[in-house]
Amino acid sequence: MKRFSNTALAVALTVGLAAQTQAQVQSETLLTDVTIVDVAEGTLAAGQSVLIRDGLITGVGTDVGAGRAAMRVDGNGGYLIPGLWDSHVHIFSSATEPDTALPLYLIHGVTGIRDMGALWPIAEQQALQTRIEAGDVLGPRLILAGAWVDASPGSWPGMFLADTPEQARAVVAQIAAEGWAAVKAYSMLDEATYLALAEAAHDAGLSFVGHIPERVALGTAIDAGQDGMEHFGRVAMACSTDETRMLTDLRDAMAGGADLRRVFEIMASRNRIILETWDNALCNTVLARMAGAGMQVSPTLVVADFYTGNWPAPEAPRMQMIPEVVREAWGRPDFRLEAMTDEVRALATDSIALDRRTFLMAHRAGVPILASTDASFANPYLFHGFPLLDELDLYVEIGLTPREALYTATVAPPRFFDLADQDGTIAPGRRADLVLLDANPLDGLATLRHPRAVIAGGRVLNRAALDRLEATLLEHGE
Ligand SMILES: [Zn+2]
Repeated sequence: MKRFSNTALAVALTVGLAAQTQAQVQSETLLTDVTIVDVAEGTLAAGQSVLIRDGLITGVGTDVGAGRAAMRVDGNGGYLIPGLWDSHVHIFSSATEPDTALPLYLIHGVTGIRDMGALWPIAEQQALQTRIEAGDVLGPRLILAGAWVDASPGSWPGMFLADTPEQARAVVAQIAAEGWAAVKAYSMLDEATYLALAEAAHDAGLSFVGHIPERVALGTAIDAGQDGMEHFGRVAMACSTDETRMLTDLRDAMAGGADLRRVFEIMASRNRIILETWDNALCNTVLARMAGAGMQVSPTLVVADFYTGNWPAPEAPRMQMIPEVVREAWGRPDFRLEAMTDEVRALATDSIALDRRTFLMAHRAGVPILASTDASFANPYLFHGFPLLDELDLYVEIGLTPREALYTATVAPPRFFDLADQDGTIAPGRRADLVLLDANPLDGLATLRHPRAVIAGGRVLNRAALDRLEATLLEHGE
């Protein structure tokens, strides 16, 4: 796949979305009679008003006044939470993906996303980010963390490549100069290159996140100061008494010139070994180290549905909201499914159960979690928007309270991204990214499925506006 230009798209987004939604843009908005949910503390404050000016919250309380020109929105006793974050998505895998992705996020109350790898040139990603911030394009806040670095030839098109420590340092210099928010390690890096990448990222003042490379131990990544890790399987693997042997087997095979088929075979064989050698005491030690280091985990547990064939029916509404060309692509044979061995398929239920058990232990050990999905047109059936709510439901099913699950999508992400105007609280000086709900989400997350209103960067999308966005997507999806 080659890179392409998106000037026409940006124009379409600007004109199209603004006209479709007729979102209310006012410099000052007074939201009255809401119950503010403090997700960090688990407390409620009823009968509050929130004043929003130029995209920021400027007043919160029972006695907040507004100018005569302010737009007034009656919250009718609804529950107000900070906007949700999906901390692992890919919205730039095709020229027109944001057209669908951006409204889908807002419809589901997701007012912030972190992009973890893209086909668009960085300048065009930044141009879209700027237009969203300026209010010219309707969409969630965008963190551009997709500077993924892999060994050549690269697992995906358009990656940064590094096969030596020298190349790692050069690549980080380029990433820093281009203005990315982070350096993302990818799976096939060798250990020496990976360690140089970690050091160079930190020297450049960049966050260092991503996959734990397949030949690197989780403990090595902790010692290297990796700030965030994507996906969850490598945590369960580090709880195996055979982690070292599994890594050595792959290193030896690759050093001996094994072809890609053999490499995938070795990686696939790990599932059985992990199930046989996962150790509770070792796991607690590993998780305590992760928690102590503050290593953030973006679990993307919903990805398992793709591998187990838990896919929506073709006529499901969620299928109708995405372009037909994407639905067709999702229906074609997938290289990841084809790489699954019979053994992996047979063990899938047990492997998923072990991941979930390990996930609950991680949460209880204090490992910081960022709710995330890997949503992308390039990842079949991982829709934009919907799966974040599925992921949060899964956290509750596994054993988190609704408040704890909500924390991973509202409080943890902006604090990890170190945003000056967002920390998961609803207070003066904070960005007006908010969701108004019918019911108290601390009692259950079902109410997230149908928000009364979503406020993105101070722009109010009431239920009617959200319904119009949804109707537009359904029309385009046909
Ligand atoms: Zn991803």
